Amino acid sequence: MYNPDYLMMTAGPTMVRENVMKKRSIFFGNPDIDDDFFKFYDELREKTAKIFGCSKSNMIFLSGEGMVGLDSACASLTEKGDRVLIIENGLFGSGFADLVKLYGGETATFHFDTKNKIDLEKLKDLLEIDSDFKFATVVHCDTPTGVLNDIEPICKLLKSKGILTVVDTVAAIGGEFFNAEKYGVDIALGGSQKVFSAPPGLTILSVSDDAWKAIENRKTSIPSFYCNLSYWKNCVEEKLFPYTMPASDLIAFDQAIDNILEEGIENVVARHHKVAKYCRNKVQELGLKLYLEDGFSPTVTSFYVPENFTTKEFIKELKEKHKILISGSFGEYSDYILRIGHMGESAKIEYIDQVILAIKDILNK
Ligand SMILES: *Cc1c(COP(=O)(O)O)cnc(C)c1O
Repeated sequence: MYNPDYLMMTAGPTMVRENVMKKRSIFFGNPDIDDDFFKFYDELREKTAKIFGCSKSNMIFLSGEGMVGLDSACASLTEKGDRVLIIENGLFGSGFADLVKLYGGETATFHFDTKNKIDLEKLKDLLEIDSDFKFATVVHCDTPTGVLNDIEPICKLLKSKGILTVVDTVAAIGGEFFNAEKYGVDIALGGSQKVFSAPPGLTILSVSDDAWKAIENRKTSIPSFYCNLSYWKNCVEEKLFPYTMPASDLIAFDQAIDNILEEGIENVVARHHKVAKYCRNKVQELGLKLYLEDGFSPTVTSFYVPENFTTKEFIKELKEKHKILISGSFGEYSDYILRIGHMGESAKIEYIDQVILAIKDILNK
């Protein structure tokens, strides 16, 4: 049987509070037929919209973890030949190009230094040269390095050029302030297993009125069923979901949202910033080197693997000797970056102390 019992300090999934796990196990009813389920769903939209900074009618919950949100945004907005701007300083950012191309879009990539947040002045200069794009994609926290981008001025700039904005905030929202309407974010993407601290299984997204218009005004139909956002526009009003909702996931997620709102969004964000700063200091005190120069996310800390270890060996040793799981990274970073996730329920000073003590123990041996 699979029965993990480690302290999970990964860059998602996170630790999950017991009240969330308990809710996930209650009887779930019939989400297709039961009117009370639609009422529950609508109330959940209203609560979650407070964290996304939009009205409840713009909120959607999809079955499937974060990637289905990225895929759905690209499937629903892209038509063959559309020019799409990929603004990136990391792997999730550059990965958007692959999704857009799947749906026939023509991508232009603005690549930025991966050790710093996106340089707004440089972006301005590039947009002066070319701004003829239907939409642009950008990542809030690009998790493989933990770089945090300043979404508000980036999206405001893009909107001023008439470009729709798609923001992957899966690894940031909740740990950092977010406001889709104020920042000018047309599609914002979140996942249940990051700061929200529910089990993996849901994508949470907001879709602006401008994005709905773009979807409605398509000349061609969306070449996907599962990733077709248009089915979701009026599903609560019409009491008809395109497929049976993952009721248990949503009931658990509802508790996770209550936990955040009870603590207060501002307090949750402040806790993440405090823990992240503490973690960076402690990692450096151990003599380890941070990957980033600037633009540190409040949700994850990336650092170079200690000398004489491979990333895999180090992660294994922490798990087996100390019952703590941390993350490695992906692609080009997988050989040398280790990451401590401090998201949601994992963002606690005492947990950071435990990880640091364990790393110290391994380094001393
Ligand atoms: C976690 C995450 C996703 C979702 O993808 P996973 O398959 O869960 O890794 C998408 N975007 C970002 C930035 C993430 O951190």
